[in-house]
This record gives sequence, C-alpha cells and structure tokens, in this order.
Amino acid sequence: MTPSRTSRTLGALLALHAGDALGAPLEFKPHTVIRGLHPGRNANAEFPRTLTGGGSHSWAPGAATDDTDLTRAVLLAYRDAICNGDDVVNKAAEHFLAWYRGDHWPSRRQGSKPRDIGRTTRKALSSLASSRHPSSTGAGEGSAGNGSLMRCIPTGLFQNDPELLIKESQSISAITHNDTRCTIACAAYNAIVSALVVRGLSVEDAVSAGERVAISLESGRTDGPVYGAMKIGRTTSLVELADKGPRKLGFPGMCGGFVLNSLTLAVAAVLDERRLDQVLVDVVRVGMDTDTNAAIAGGLLGARDGEEAVLDEWKDLLQFGPEFRRLVDQILTAQGVIPEEGQSDEVGLFSGNHGLNVSI
Ligand SMILES: [Mg+2]
Repeated sequence: MTPSRTSRTLGALLALHAGDALGAPLEFKPHTVIRGLHPGRNANAEFPRTLTGGGSHSWAPGAATDDTDLTRAVLLAYRDAICNGDDVVNKAAEHFLAWYRGDHWPSRRQGSKPRDIGRTTRKALSSLASSRHPSSTGAGEGSAGNGSLMRCIPTGLFQNDPELLIKESQSISAITHNDTRCTIACAAYNAIVSALVVRGLSVEDAVSAGERVAISLESGRTDGPVYGAMKIGRTTSLVELADKGPRKLGFPGMCGGFVLNSLTLAVAAVLDERRLDQVLVDVVRVGMDTDTNAAIAGGLLGARDGEEAVLDEWKDLLQFGPEFRRLVDQILTAQGVIPEEGQSDEVGLFSGNHGLNVSI
C-alpha cells in the first residue's frame, strides 16, 4: 500500500532519528574497524541493526545526537511559522541558539551545552549568540561539512511552495553553513523529499526533481559539484560500498563529514530497493560519520517508505518519537492536510492546494 502523506512525513523524521541513533555508537570509526568488529553481512544479523547506544559520548539507546536535536529545532521553527505566523529562518536561528546554550532543551540539565557539536556549527552559533543576525553568521566558503544537510528536512516536509522551499532550504543552511555546496545540497535534498512526500512521485522522478534543482542552482551547469555528487549516488551500490569500503571502491571521499559524500550516500540509499532498515545498516557500515550519514539517508528512506517501514523496536526507543508524532499532527492539521475527524487521511493528501503546484 502506498504510504499516506502523514505516514511519509512522520517516517522521514523517525527514520532520520533512527539513523542517527543507529550510527551514534560507531561515529568516526572507519570502515575497516567496523568490518573487523562485525565481519560479514550475515555473521551477526542483529548488528548494527539494534539501537545499542554507547559510543564515545555514552549515548542512551535511541538518544538524539546533534543531528536529531537540530532537526527538531527546524521542525519547531516550522511549527512556529505555520501555526503562529513567525519567520521561519529567525525562529530556526532562535531554536539553534537555545540548543547551543542548553536553554529549554528536554532531557538536558538547564544551561548545559550539547555533548556533540560540529566545528562549523559551533563557530557560527557562537557568532550568532553575539550578533543575532542569522543571515551573516555562516562559516563561509570552504566549510562544506554536512551539518546543515543533516537538519534540513522539515523544509522539504512542510514548505509546499517550490520557490520558497529552495529559498528557505538555502537560508536555514546558511545560518551555519553558507558554502554553496551546502546550501544547494539542502535545496536539492528537500526537492527530493517534497517530490516523495507532498507530490507522491516515484523515487526515480523524485531524484530527478532534486537533480534539476541542483543543476538550476549551479547556473545550469551539469558539471557542478552538487549535481556531480548526486550523479555518483545513482551508480553507487551501497551493498558493495558497505562490504568493501570507500577506499577499495574508489569512492570520492571517506564519508567523514563532507556534505557531498553524505548527499551521494543518501541518493544511493533512496534508490536502493531493499527494506529501509537493511539500507540504513549498510550506510552505517560504510563508516566514519556514521550517525550523520545515516540520519541524512534515513530522512529520504522514511519519506519513501513511510513510518510503517521504521522498525517498531526502533520507534519504541527514539527519544523524540512521541514529540515528532505530535508536531507532525499539529503542523499537518494547521496546513489542512490532516482532515477533520471521520475522514481518511488520504482525503487531504492531494486535495486543495497542498503541493499541487510544485514544479521542481
Ligand atoms: Mg551526531
């Protein structure tokens, strides 16, 4: 059965959260080390499929790391924008700062700083804390980490206007990551998300929609870096990459935090026809920035397959699972996607103006 828009929306957020939690215990372990710990695809079917927690930050099983925390911040910004009419970029910046300072953040001691924070994000949020101007705090060209791609998905889920989707993807990325590879990667990724979730397109057509956005933002060139990364994703076999590792396969990078490596993995993941959990496990097995790579890929896989495809044993443990469910319900109700009682969710899926005019 084709998943409903609500299921895909929630699925995207939960699979991102699950990818983060799945990869967190192995963060920054190279492929060879992970392979040494768990040799062979079927040698230990439970690993790394179980959300064990642990790792260098001693995470609880299912805990959110910075990837899910900052996705939550952008999700709250869309709730504020859609339900209260606030400016989404300013609100995202406010929620980022609250996270950075430890203010009003669930499950953390008031005022305690995040345990894990990327270099670029730290630099930008420290500047934002004094300047308060989110349009001028990005770390600049040359800082092309995956720290904005990992948290950008709420724009693809809730901004139905195609031009605003591109603009907001870029502006929210630029609060911390304003290198054009990052801002364009976020816009292209969210175009895929929107094509899957809002328009209900096939995976093939959704990836093409994302590629068109990348080409258009790279001045119509087909040799631009973001489109190039997506093209590599089309021909990358995750099964092979997880078995042999990036070095042996001549993959263009070690997947250690570079935004274009993460985008390539996500495109390869969404085009991989296996079950969501099988694909996500292989993204983790590639190694290095395991939590962020799996969070980014997980977002696309959940948008593709819906929340039913996220394992129950994962959903039971995810720290923000219940809150994400409430927020999705609140936002989609405000947008008129979730109809009044007594009607099927499907009724609102492609009715009214929700997403019908998206032409990316
Ligand atoms: Mg993380």
